[in-house]
Amino acid sequence: MSEIPEYLKKGYITPEELFKIIPKPSDERLRARPVAVPECPQEIPCAPCREVCPTGAISMPTPNDLPIVDYEKCVGCSLCVQICPGLAFFMVHYVGDKARITMPYELLPVPERGDEVVLLNRVGEPVGKGKVTLVIPREKSMGDTAVVTVEVPIELAWEVRTIHVLGGEEDD
Ligand code: SF4
Ligand code: SF4
Repeated sequence: MSEIPEYLKKGYITPEELFKIIPKPSDERLRARPVAVPECPQEIPCAPCREVCPTGAISMPTPNDLPIVDYEKCVGCSLCVQICPGLAFFMVHYVGDKARITMPYELLPVPERGDEVVLLNRVGEPVGKGKVTLVIPREKSMGDTAVVTVEVPIELAWEVRTIHVLGGEEDD
């Protein structure tokens, strides 16, 4: 029996672990335009990301294979982020000394463009504050989730994977 990977035991995957499984987009590509990165390391029977991609950028020979993105074919439409039931797709775009991270967001309240939010890392710990630059509300999303783009310091590009929206009940 093969050994259970460390990221499954921990419940989250580090960037170092992820990029042993899929290629990391080059800095040049990350600066050119948003690029989709699947953080989906388990071989599960699932393929809506591949089906929704308008450019055929996501390869997955069978639904049990891992999704691999051809970063040159990705046009940054975010449909894979919207539709992934595992909330496993993100988009990253380097802009100057910031990175814009596009992520699924299922909690309430959904933030609005321009809001300042708390940035949370892969473990859910606060690591700073960032600004929301784009929101696709749930009713306009292809899937069942809103999609939020947040601007973060570039050094946190591979750490921030969700946000805490200020003004919710727990902040009262
Ligand atoms: S962002 Fe759009 S083009 Fe890029 S991989 Fe996802 S669905 Fe395909
Ligand atoms: S839709 Fe999401 S969970 Fe399913 S294979 Fe694609 S990335 Fe993985």
